[in-house]
Amino acid sequence: MSSLPSRPAGSAPLALPPGVDLETFNKFIQDVTDVVGAENVEVIVSMNQIDDKSYEDPTHTHDPHHIVDQDYFMASAVVAPRNVADVQAIVGLANPLSMPLWPISIGRNSGYGGAGPRVRGSLVLNMGKNMNKILEVNVEGAYCLVEPGVTFQDMHNYLVENNLRDKLWIDVPDLGGGSILGNTLERGVGYTPYGDHFMMHSGMEVVLPNGELIRTGMGALPDPRKPATMGLKPEDQPWNSSAQLFPYGFGPYVDGLFTQSNLGIVTKMGMWLFPNPGGYQSYLITLPKDDDLKQAVDIIRPLRLAMVLQNVPTIRHILMDAAVMGTKTDYTDTKGVLGDEELDAIAKKLNLGRWNFYGALYGPEPVRNALWAAIKGSFSAIPGAKFYFKDDVPENSVLRIRDLTMQGIPTFEELRWVSWLPNGAHLFFSPIAPVQGEDAVAQYEVTRRRCEEAQLDFIGTFTIGMREMHHIVCIVFNKRDEDQKRRAHWLIRTLIDDCARRGWGEYRTHLAVMDQIMGTYNWNNGSFLRFNEVIKNAVDPNGIMAPGKSGVWPKNYKKEEWTL
Ligand code: ADP
Repeated sequence: MSSLPSRPAGSAPLALPPGVDLETFNKFIQDVTDVVGAENVEVIVSMNQIDDKSYEDPTHTHDPHHIVDQDYFMASAVVAPRNVADVQAIVGLANPLSMPLWPISIGRNSGYGGAGPRVRGSLVLNMGKNMNKILEVNVEGAYCLVEPGVTFQDMHNYLVENNLRDKLWIDVPDLGGGSILGNTLERGVGYTPYGDHFMMHSGMEVVLPNGELIRTGMGALPDPRKPATMGLKPEDQPWNSSAQLFPYGFGPYVDGLFTQSNLGIVTKMGMWLFPNPGGYQSYLITLPKDDDLKQAVDIIRPLRLAMVLQNVPTIRHILMDAAVMGTKTDYTDTKGVLGDEELDAIAKKLNLGRWNFYGALYGPEPVRNALWAAIKGSFSAIPGAKFYFKDDVPENSVLRIRDLTMQGIPTFEELRWVSWLPNGAHLFFSPIAPVQGEDAVAQYEVTRRRCEEAQLDFIGTFTIGMREMHHIVCIVFNKRDEDQKRRAHWLIRTLIDDCARRGWGEYRTHLAVMDQIMGTYNWNNGSFLRFNEVIKNAVDPNGIMAPGKSGVWPKNYKKEEWTL
């Protein structure tokens, strides 16, 4: 029997799970330690273990970008299963005690709560520490099959090291350190033509709250062609040969139930890789005036619908780029919010527009030339719009970074905008908008005005999906300044209600406002949430799986007492 992790005898975790006494907790930890080994269990008994650390070395105990007290969204312990059987054993131990588990893959989830659990004292399951293998890269089928700990950077490195970059790319988000699996489960985005990660996944393997293991889509159909594998445990058996090619299989399509949800622990996932298009060219179009946003978005809509804009392009506010290239004090002595004149001056200094549109062309040169002629022709209707390719801009330009991102090469430079302010931390406010100039302008006006009321600079970008835009407002605050934290928190809470009143909802959010946002998705007297609660209580009757995630509470939690 392995021993308990070293900690002073009898010392309690800083946060016990709700309704669990110390003795029960200690026994549970002992049992879990027996399953996974002491090296895979850390009980949080001292504030010395609570360190915000860094993006490079992420903490697993709490949210490093804490918008409330640092130890509010905090784990009692962090446990790393070694395999599927460990996950099933932990679930088996948790059920009789209604012990809350909070699965993470890498736990960066930057700006949305990090590794922190919604319920203080939950057991954070660090799925990525040991379960981090690339199980398959299939060149002909252009897909991969991965475990939770495989990051975008890992997959890119694999493609490079195996001389496969000339055949396949992995779509990457702004930063390369997140897991493919965690990002997809949160319905995150990237910037190649495969930018909608959930759309591009195919097949999941999931441990349900009762410990049962399922494979979704074609994965539910056994693969008959590999008799030599008879006798393998289900999790080690090969997948059906179509599982990573056709996501839907037969019957109800359940994959969505495991995204932004609390119904299972995903242990494997298939993901499509983007075939190298045989030619690539990134570009930047600068738009001189703040008002150009409206016209630009109306130009973008038909181009994106027709896939003349092939990838997920972005329209970035000037401060988004300015913050990647420097801190606020590099540009101005102004302590308060920057006004239009100062923004114009920054744009001039950086040779950028008030809005800057980043996209890319894919395919052989004649194809790219034809697409570029259409794009450039359309944007030329905006007076003063300027057009750049990578080699036209200085080395430190954002286009040099986006040039890599939009061809699936992970970068980490976008991290810099968090340092716009000293002790910079951030929170994302991410409403969806139609690709309509009027909506873009209205959303920009509402969010900018509220940012100004909160005395925080507006930093934002519109990410263009197939038919909508994810408007990502980056709320940067000094986390050592309690007043500023309060204002940032006020800002996001106010914006959620402002936007809901106008019919705009968020696509994803931070732990602190999940209840509020779910409360806005309340059509027909909240029937959507009630349906989710029925599913939750049927699948997880003891409420062990990520209680409160996305505002869905199991019946053994008094919702009125838990909602924030
Ligand atoms: P990233 O890899 O981007 O750092 P995380 O590992 O923090 O992302 O995961 C983001 C969120 O996705 C988690 O907070 C959790 O809700 C969910 N999640 C991540 N991994 C799993 C998993 N293996 N099973 C179920 N949910 C998961």
